[in-house]
Amino acid sequence: MAVKTILSEDMLPTRWYNIVPDMPAGSLKPPLDPATGEPVGPEALAPIFPMSLISQEVSTERFVDIPEEVQEIYKLWRPTPLIRARRLEKVLDTPAKIYFKYEGVSPAGSHKPNTSVPQAYFNREAGIKRIATETGAGQWGSAMALATQMFGMACTVYMVRISYEQKPYRRSMMEVWGAEVLASPTGRTNSGRAVLEKDPESLGSLGIAISEASEDAATHDDTNYSLGSVLNHVLMHQTVVGEECKQQMEIAGDYPDIVIGCIGGGSNYAGLAFPFMRDRLSGEKQVEFLAAEPSACPTVTRGKLTYDFGDALGSTPLFMMHTLGHDFTPPGIHAGGLRYHAMAPLISALVDTGNMSAVAYGQTEIFEAAVTFARAEAIIPAPESSHAIKAAIDEAVRAREAGEGRVILFNLSGHGHFDMSAYDQYLSGKLTDYAYPEEKIKESMAKIPKGTW
Ligand SMILES: *Cc1c(COP(=O)(O)O)cnc(C)c1O
Repeated sequence: MAVKTILSEDMLPTRWYNIVPDMPAGSLKPPLDPATGEPVGPEALAPIFPMSLISQEVSTERFVDIPEEVQEIYKLWRPTPLIRARRLEKVLDTPAKIYFKYEGVSPAGSHKPNTSVPQAYFNREAGIKRIATETGAGQWGSAMALATQMFGMACTVYMVRISYEQKPYRRSMMEVWGAEVLASPTGRTNSGRAVLEKDPESLGSLGIAISEASEDAATHDDTNYSLGSVLNHVLMHQTVVGEECKQQMEIAGDYPDIVIGCIGGGSNYAGLAFPFMRDRLSGEKQVEFLAAEPSACPTVTRGKLTYDFGDALGSTPLFMMHTLGHDFTPPGIHAGGLRYHAMAPLISALVDTGNMSAVAYGQTEIFEAAVTFARAEAIIPAPESSHAIKAAIDEAVRAREAGEGRVILFNLSGHGHFDMSAYDQYLSGKLTDYAYPEEKIKESMAKIPKGTW
C-alpha cells in the first residue's frame, strides 16, 4: 500500500517523545563545567536559551505536549508522506520491503523546521524578539528564518563566508523569509573582529559562526541563540517524525526490522528512530538500528566516546559523546550537514550500549546511491540523506543474497534541489573521495580535554 495517500491531520502527534527515561541505566553522563569538572546546572544555559527549552533539555518526562500554535505551523506540511519504494525494490530485485519517510516536503526542504518552529515559539513566549544563529550550508539558517517569520520575530543568521559566496540561493531563501544574513566572520562581534584582524580574507568556519551567534545572543537581552541538532530538546522535537511514522507503518501493516538514517549531529535520525527504539528498549520488539555517516567525518565509526567541547573554540560545557576532537575540521564534502566533529550524547549512548550501530561511506558511493534512487523513485535526495539511502540499498542487496523478506525503513531527511552543482560534479566524473583524514584526526584527538572526571 502506498501510505503517502493516508495523510489525515488526525495523524499529527500531539506529544513529542523524550527517550531519556527509557535509556539504559547509567548510560547517560551529565554535561560538565570544563573549569571545575563538576556537572553544570540548567542555569548555565540561561543567558542564551529560554527556561522552557532548558527544562525540556533536562526533562525526565516520557512525553511532552506540543503546543497548539506549533501544531498549527506543523500542519502547513505535516504529516509528511511514508512511501513504499516499490520501484527501487524492483531495480534492486530484492525480496525486502523498503519504506522511507520523506521530510523534504517541508518549506525549507528538510526535517529542520520540526525543531526551528518550536524553538522560535518557546523563545517568543519568553518575550524574546530576535534569534541569532549560525548556518554552514544554509539548511539550518533557512529553517530558522522560516520559523521566526511564522511567529513575527527577527532573525540574524551568521553564515560561513565561503557558503555565503557559493550558495547564494540559500541566502536568498532566508532573506525572503525576512532574516538578516551576514557573512561570517563579521565586524559585529568580538569573535568575528578577532578573526578578521588576523586574517581579513578569512572564509569563516562553522566554529567561528557559532561563536559570533552565541556572543550576539549573550550580549543582547532581547536575543537568544538556537541550535539545530545534538541537544536533547532538539532530538525530542524531531520525534514528531517517528511518532507519525509508527501510525503510518501500522496502516501499511508492517513493522521495520531495521531503521536507518544519516547522522551529522544525530537529530533527523533520532527523530525517526527513537519512537521505534522505545519498543526495543522495553523488550517489546527486536528492531535493529543503523546510522550512516561520511568516511571523511567518521565521528561514531572512528571517533572516541569521551568528554569534549561542543564547539570549535571550546566555550561550551563538556558533553559525553563520540568526537573527533573539537577543532577537527573535516574536508569540504558536499554533505555539509554531516560535517560536525561530534555526535548527540543520546545517539552516542545508544551506540555504546549496543542498541545501535554505525557505518561510514565515501562521497562517490553515496552519489551513486542517490542517482539510483532518483532514477527509481523520482525524488532527488540531499547528499546528507543519500548516506541513509546507500545503507538501505546495501541492506536490501544483503536481503536478496540471503533470500530474506526484511522490512527496511529509512529517513529521507531532505531534497537536493540546492545541491545540483554537487550532482553536476558527480555526473561529470569530477567528484573526489577524501581518504580517511587520519593525521588530522590524530592531531585534534590530542586536544581533547584531559580531566580527572
Ligand atoms: C542538517 C541536515 C542533516 C544532518 O543533521 P542531523 O542533525 O544529523 O539530522 C541531514 N540531512 C539534511 C537534509 C540536513 O539538512
